[in-house]
Amino acid sequence: MEADKGKVAIVTGGARGIGLEICRELLGMGMKVVAVDLKKDLLDALPGALGNPGDNLETAVVDVTNSAAFTSTIEQVAEKHGRLDVLVNNAGITRDNIVLMMSDEDWELVLKVNLMSAFIGTRAAGKIMMRQRKGAIVMMSSYSGLEGNRGQANYAASKAGMLGLMKSAAKELAKRSVRVNAVAPGFIKTDMTDVLPQQAKDMALAQIPMERFGTPGDIARAVGFLASEASAYITGQVLSVDGGMHT
Ligand code: NAD
Repeated sequence: MEADKGKVAIVTGGARGIGLEICRELLGMGMKVVAVDLKKDLLDALPGALGNPGDNLETAVVDVTNSAAFTSTIEQVAEKHGRLDVLVNNAGITRDNIVLMMSDEDWELVLKVNLMSAFIGTRAAGKIMMRQRKGAIVMMSSYSGLEGNRGQANYAASKAGMLGLMKSAAKELAKRSVRVNAVAPGFIKTDMTDVLPQQAKDMALAQIPMERFGTPGDIARAVGFLASEASAYITGQVLSVDGGMHT
């Protein structure tokens, strides 16, 4: 849409996988995109991977669990461009194990990277967006957060937590047209899922009514919708993009 052109967006975990496709989608909509990620080598290769979009793409090496660093990155982007229209809280990790064998460290790390970072980002971007009386925040949740998943108690708790954060922030920020929504992907083919054993992949496929894994592009298009003026009256919602698993 014309109204989305020139918007400024931050995408966390933007260096690869779903985040990279979200960057591509938002660039295609005419937005300026700042990709935030831990991995400098992947960020350095990102302009090439996205067809060299020039000034429309910026990158920042930031650990989103570092509250001061992530907050100041968001503030600097808004200051430089004079606006911040979109934040996509996409960075995420897994440390799978059954509950009975899960360590405190693996519980804490996954909650910190997936949920704490989304809180830090939402607080910092929310302040800027409330002042400008407009904005859209999108959380990358998961089917696991809606339904739970064997071997993923920490991950499912973090993704369910993102939905609680999303719904609360949506209620708090709505009066100034700042919208907060979530996408809940099912099983998407990326580096994160490529490492799973074949048996786990076969079991996942058997659960998908559309009988195929999703692509990062499937998710990116849903994020693009929730980030855009096309969803101007939608807030506090979870959009499942999972080939029909969650109905
Ligand atoms: P991925 O591992 O390919 O990419 C994640 C990116 O996040 C990486 O570039 C990584 O460097 C970055 N990242 C990790 N920790 C970070 C930190 N502390 N600070 C900054 N960046 C950090 O994963 P993906 O499959 O593209 O997943 C993206 C998001 O989608 C995640 O939140 C994931 O939980 C969610 N998701 C994925 C699937 C799936 O099937 N792939 C399903 C549901 C939800």
